[in-house]
Amino acid sequence: MAKKGDMLYAWTNDAEIKKHAELGGAVTGLWKFALESKAVDAVLVITKGTDLYDAQPVLISDPKELAKTAGSLHCGTLLMPKLIKNYFDGAANMKIGVTVKGCDAMAFYELAKRKQINLDNIIMIGVNCGGSVSPVRARKMITEKFGVDPDTVHKEEIDKGQFIIEYEGGHKGISMDELEEAGYGRRTNCRRCKMKVPRQADLACGNWGVIGDKAGKATFVEVCSEKGANLLEGAVKKGIIATEPANPKGLEIRGKVEGAMLKLGEKWRKKDFEGLGEGKDRLKKIMTETSRCIKCYSCILACPICYCVDCTTKNPAYVKPGELPPSFMFHLIRYAHIADSCVNCGQCEELCPAEIPNALFMHAQQVELEKMFGHVPGVNMELPLMAYVEEKQERARLKNTGSDMIYENVFNPVLKN
Ligand code: FAD
Ligand code: SF4
Ligand code: SF4
Ligand code: SF4
Ligand code: SF4
Repeated sequence: MAKKGDMLYAWTNDAEIKKHAELGGAVTGLWKFALESKAVDAVLVITKGTDLYDAQPVLISDPKELAKTAGSLHCGTLLMPKLIKNYFDGAANMKIGVTVKGCDAMAFYELAKRKQINLDNIIMIGVNCGGSVSPVRARKMITEKFGVDPDTVHKEEIDKGQFIIEYEGGHKGISMDELEEAGYGRRTNCRRCKMKVPRQADLACGNWGVIGDKAGKATFVEVCSEKGANLLEGAVKKGIIATEPANPKGLEIRGKVEGAMLKLGEKWRKKDFEGLGEGKDRLKKIMTETSRCIKCYSCILACPICYCVDCTTKNPAYVKPGELPPSFMFHLIRYAHIADSCVNCGQCEELCPAEIPNALFMHAQQVELEKMFGHVPGVNMELPLMAYVEEKQERARLKNTGSDMIYENVFNPVLKN
């Protein structure tokens, strides 16, 4: 009987899935079982679009469609929970299975705290994550550092600290350290990330710790919840998935690799945050960088913490309409609202057309706030200090009092005097 805490090697018996899978296809096999047994109505997963730099989200309800979604796309930098909030009513009335990276899992928790996602209707299969590479940067890196035309690459992988490509002329690997020293490699938020094994998910799967004859043919599964245990057990009973206990030596190796990745994340945090300076210097740097802002709202639309129907940055009392760049207040509002809960997913930076390092600024502040108040976002359902207000009720309360005290006292000179 599978139970929370189990550590297993797992693979699928489905030949079609196995053919496309990254490491034995346990993840996709589990989704097959979830759909066939009606444990979920659909699964939200990633599939290759026009090429391997083009990771696309796809909602699948027919298990026969699943094989094409197997495999890992390291240039897939999407964040799934906001899609579920925006397009599937936060899973209010639909059971959805989702493959998640650490940042997805953290974002799910933060959205659930804000009542934007119904976690009861979500099953998460987590994948360990050493990091992802921005598609545009990956193309540039392959051209400039590998000396290869990115359109001739048909497979990429990150293995033993190397970024490896298979292309028409053979295969080539370069160490991530070397690539990152030269300004390529993983996204900068990924370098700072310390959510390597997403234990908030129902199952956490990855290649770390798979050794011996199963290396490359199975994934290491850590069972993180009862939901995950039931899913795994059902799939094994149906013969879709096979398992064996993880090799104890493999378990030890997995722990060591995770520890080394956490240290590396800490090293990058130190480097990036020190580079920002402190106090007024930091503020000046942030103000200079954000002065390129074209107020496209991408950072707000993509951020899993931003969910408000009426965004304060659109209130003319705070941010004058029709002015570019917007006043610094535009960014201050976001820092004030988000910083305590930022999960460092990188979306606000990845999608910024002005290439403003928004995630770095927000993450640096989140870490300071964590030191001050002890709140760690994205790991459990504990609310941040400032989250005890229901937006709709608060707006109704302000309206019913006949005056919006905040706006009118500050901005209406008659009331102010
Ligand atoms: P499969 O059956 O092949 O299924 C893979 C699942 O991952 C599918 O549902 C697919 O849609 C989904 N997927 C593919 N790309 C993405 C993406 N970019 N974002 C979200 N979902 C995606 N394991 C480690 O132990 N160490 C690592 O450093 C590590 N880094 C990873 C980095 C990334 C970006 C990804 C996606 C995975 C990483 N993994 C890592 C996990 C590993 O590559 C396998 O996904 C895992 O072992 C499951 O293998 P499988 O054959 O069972 O999965
Ligand atoms: Fe992976 Fe962390 Fe980057 Fe998300 S932020 S893609 S979990 S390394
Ligand atoms: Fe400004 Fe960039 Fe945000 Fe667009 S994504 S509003 S340019 S900071
Ligand atoms: Fe992600 Fe940026 Fe929002 Fe932080 S502020 S959670 S990095 S989108
Ligand atoms: Fe809500 Fe503030 Fe984000 Fe606007 S910036 S959506 S008000 S959290």
